Amino acid sequence: MTDFRFELLATNGKLRRGRFHTPHGTFETPCFAPVGTYATLKGLTPEQVRATGSELILANSYHLHVRPGAERIERLGGLHRFMNWDGPILTDSGGFQVFSLGHKNKIDDDGVTFQSTVDGSTHRCTPESVLTFQKQLGPDIAMVLDHCPPGDAPRATQLAAHERTLRWARQARDLHDSWGGSARGQAVFGICQGGTDLELRAESAQALAAMDFDGYAIGGLSVGETKKQMAAALDACVDHLPEQKIRYMMGVGMPEDLLEATAMGVDMFDCVIPTRHGRSHTAFAPGGGTIKMRNLQYADDPNPLVESCGCYTCTNYSRAYLRHLSVADEMLGGILLSIHNIHFLQDLMRDIRRRAEGND
Ligand SMILES: [Zn+2]
Repeated sequence: MTDFRFELLATNGKLRRGRFHTPHGTFETPCFAPVGTYATLKGLTPEQVRATGSELILANSYHLHVRPGAERIERLGGLHRFMNWDGPILTDSGGFQVFSLGHKNKIDDDGVTFQSTVDGSTHRCTPESVLTFQKQLGPDIAMVLDHCPPGDAPRATQLAAHERTLRWARQARDLHDSWGGSARGQAVFGICQGGTDLELRAESAQALAAMDFDGYAIGGLSVGETKKQMAAALDACVDHLPEQKIRYMMGVGMPEDLLEATAMGVDMFDCVIPTRHGRSHTAFAPGGGTIKMRNLQYADDPNPLVESCGCYTCTNYSRAYLRHLSVADEMLGGILLSIHNIHFLQDLMRDIRRRAEGND
């Protein structure tokens, strides 16, 4: 019996309540995973991350492969020990970064060659190499290499990327099987692509489902398409993914998107937005709004950031103090706002899980 298992506990319409089991513990779904690109959630200790209610975190295998190197992390005992996080970790394949960061990337049918944005050195990613990096890093969940073209790319490009993504998924799946599958302690998820083309999306989901991955990601959305296009593409994927497997929408973290996508049957999400917002003096507020912490109106405000929030920041500090930290560019400001923002999304996910169970 594999250590990896998705339990579908309840449904409410298309909204799903579940639990995913890994060798490093379980996480409740729908879930939001904060992102520690370089094996750190910027400015936060693992204890602080845990206290926000986060159970699963993300790291980026592309960035860690470039620096400090996946082999080095393996020698040092793997990613969990390296970053002192004993809960579930997912690493993404780096496909999105390779395609979005590199104007100097060169793609062919076997992989992609690109220049590091760190030191200009040349790297090559193939479906096999990205899985090997992730085997060395040792997260609970690894992602296959996919080709994510720009949202506005012509249909011929979308079609080629879609076919390439499926071929690469097959190669990754075969390699994973040759290593003993998820029994060796790592699950692998496939990634559905196809842009806003509903036929391609459906075909992608069906083909991946036939490959029987441990979970299914929906990539290439929230990259500039309209909300309506995003919803339609999401629907086209979800309809063809197996009921009993977890569904993961990549790179989405705005509260309204989390509400909408969970209502359409998505189980997990990740995004840099809560920590990036935190570092740029912005806090999530109820009702879909944000608080710009540097605004003069908070200079004498003794109230907590968000009255109804039970996070460490809102429990202990005033808006006036947070504004002072932001204006003075003190690093504690970014840390306290990041804590609030992650906690805020985890509260939202808890509400969504309650609703999935039929309790409002
Ligand atoms: Zn708070």
